[in-house]
Amino acid sequence: NLSQRLTTVAKFVPQGARVADIGSDHGYLPAALALQGQIEYAVAGEVVRGPYENAVSEIKKLALAKIIQARLADGLAAIKDSDHINTITIAGMGGALITQILDAHPEKLAGVTRLILQPNVGEARLREWLMNHQFQIMAERMVAEDGHIYEVIVAEPSTVPFRYSKYELTFGPFLLEQHSPVFTKKWQDELQRQEGVLQQVKQASKPPVAKIKQQEEYISLIKEVLN
Ligand code: SAM
Repeated sequence: NLSQRLTTVAKFVPQGARVADIGSDHGYLPAALALQGQIEYAVAGEVVRGPYENAVSEIKKLALAKIIQARLADGLAAIKDSDHINTITIAGMGGALITQILDAHPEKLAGVTRLILQPNVGEARLREWLMNHQFQIMAERMVAEDGHIYEVIVAEPSTVPFRYSKYELTFGPFLLEQHSPVFTKKWQDELQRQEGVLQQVKQASKPPVAKIKQQEEYISLIKEVLN
């Protein structure tokens, strides 16, 4: 039984895909995909031994060893050419770590036709990475679970050059367009949080001018979109 968050990630995995799930932990996502008959093959990559061993035992318990390989490796190093991976999922980490993982092995992205990413924070930075590497966002979702609002970003390589505006980078091109109630909630909360940060920064004995300006710009961007 997958969380709503991982169920949303799973929905975007194409039928018959060959998946690399990086930072797989227990391997719940590839296991669910395999049990549903949704994938041909998966690699469950983990950099930490404990979670890797959890994935190994989950795969064994469910008798999925023919479909899923657990590998102890840092990021995309878990992928071998012979895997013929076409879909990469990376969920449950910060956007900065996700971009770091994608940056470390550009050659592993060559045959990849879809990225399904679920950053916990730092979504704007991740969208900027996608834009700068010509991965176009094809869909986005917001999932509210356990008191947190998660974003799922689906991207595919684009042959046509494109750019995103600062609004699209910050809020997400599709999420911005949909402007759902959960979107409003997320950004109302974020606005409140950032206003608190601004007050604190201003109270410093030597208020940092550049930081204050940046903070004020971010706040007015959020206000503009909420109005
Ligand atoms: N993907 C699962 C999910 O969304 O529920 C697990 C998320 S868990 C919070 C993050 C996992 O990523 C941890 O198990 C951690 O060990 C792993 N991880 C962090 N950095 C990694 C890297 N560079 N390569 C592979 N795995 C990594």
